[in-house]
Amino acid sequence: MRANPVDYELVAPGDLSAVVSLLAQQPGEWLPIAGGTDVMVQYTAGSLASRKLVSLWNLPELRRIEASDSNVTIGAACTYTDIREHAVLAQEFPLLAAAASWTGGIANQNRGTLGGNIVNASPAADSLPALLVYEAELILISARGERRVRYTEFHTGYKEMLLAPDELIRAISLCRRFSGYISYSRKVGARNAQAISKVCVAGLGRIADGHATDVRIAAGSVAPVPIRLRATEGLVEGRTINTELVQAARKAAISGARPIDDIRSTAAYRSAVLGNLVAEFLQKLAAGGSSDVLARWNKLAADQAAEQVLPCCGSSVWARALAARRPIPDLAVLLSTSDEIWRGLKPSDWLEAFSKHPRIGGRKAPPAATSQSASWSAQEQNHVVSAAESVQQGLAAANRAYEQRFGRLFIVCAAGKSAEEMLEILQRRMHNDDATELQAAAEEQRQITNLRLKKYFNP
Ligand SMILES: Cc1cc2nc3c(=O)[nH]c(=O)nc-3n(C[C@H](O)[C@H](O)[C@H](O)COP(=O)(O)OP(=O)(O)OC[C@H]3O[C@@H](n4cnc5c(N)ncnc54)[C@H](O)[C@@H]3O)c2cc1C
Repeated sequence: MRANPVDYELVAPGDLSAVVSLLAQQPGEWLPIAGGTDVMVQYTAGSLASRKLVSLWNLPELRRIEASDSNVTIGAACTYTDIREHAVLAQEFPLLAAAASWTGGIANQNRGTLGGNIVNASPAADSLPALLVYEAELILISARGERRVRYTEFHTGYKEMLLAPDELIRAISLCRRFSGYISYSRKVGARNAQAISKVCVAGLGRIADGHATDVRIAAGSVAPVPIRLRATEGLVEGRTINTELVQAARKAAISGARPIDDIRSTAAYRSAVLGNLVAEFLQKLAAGGSSDVLARWNKLAADQAAEQVLPCCGSSVWARALAARRPIPDLAVLLSTSDEIWRGLKPSDWLEAFSKHPRIGGRKAPPAATSQSASWSAQEQNHVVSAAESVQQGLAAANRAYEQRFGRLFIVCAAGKSAEEMLEILQRRMHNDDATELQAAAEEQRQITNLRLKKYFNP
């Protein structure tokens, strides 16, 4: 049955102690709502646990990220954007920053919070494997005071957790002791943004005297809650990583998981992918963290390093800023750093990048594009060449209309899209106002850049 808004009550007391008192007066009656990205889905589906909602959105006490010498404490209502853009988190907790950058699209990242992700407790939640390997501590608050719970112990079963009805998560605390660790994260889904993971893995560890040390591996979507693969970690700990060990670890990871068949994937596929990702992590660990290409790029002179990445994104300011952030330990950090730089650029820098693309359906890249960029554009658009003549003509006409309306080329991440799909997207975006359309084009360029960085650094 459709939800009727008049049957619901929403209060926003505006400070944390007032929310905590309300929960204490009527424990279990009031449902906290932070960004609402999960709650509103449940509301629309008519499956909300309560009709009385108390807002945590923008409570200053829950919206801070504080770094001391020993810890970083993230307020539970910090959004993915807050996390992605925080310098210390990006630098020292790249697995969390990477998860934040691929949780949903931009709108979702501006609203969705870390506390909400934890309490929503989806087995596929993207930030939770990172919290498991960093051994985060949760700070819970109620009228009875505060208590700390290790995140590794917090989720006790599917959607079950050590949170009393009158309690909130106030903050998530991370110990600053992972500098120099090699980190690995992968989300396998239909596509990264907007897609719920089929499997996601976060790995962390060091190599000391040729031996794997303090190895931590966590996975999502392979059990009722995200899990640490303790048996696999134990197998690898203190050993030299070689082919036999990687094979044994792959098997141990698969037997430690309990994936299911559901609409997104099958148990067998999830097991196979989990094994592959664990093997990939261990190979990266054995290689000392950097892929050869990334290691070489880290050592180039600044102008050469900027020039090398320019085919991935044609903004010279972006390329120079990315080069200035070296050394970059791995691809996940590279991608989150690139995203952060891109989102902070001026529109004129975005326009410079857009100007390096050929028209969708156009055969020629502009003279300013590098030859590598031109060749990638041709690959990304390969579906257009084989499209029906009528669709190609439709695209040409729509491109002209777009350029007249917005004064620049239409930008869409063409990889994997048919000509018909791109034409439909172009026609839909013609209804955007200028500012919305510029943001939409910038988001498409961000996706193009990520795909190209992956191609370049992870050939
Ligand atoms: C389009 C879309 C795409 C998405 N993509 C992804 C994705 O790729 N990866 C992913 O992991 N998730 C994804 N999600 C899910 C969602 O965005 C995240 O789980 C998000 O982190 C939830 O945060 P929120 O603040 O919106 O939670 P809310 O919806 O406000 O709350 C969720 C639950 O947490 C409780 N809660 C919130 N804050 C607290 C607190 N401080 N203390 C106690 N309880 C609290 C609420 O009572 C509720 O039960 C997506 C959702 C949408 C709609």
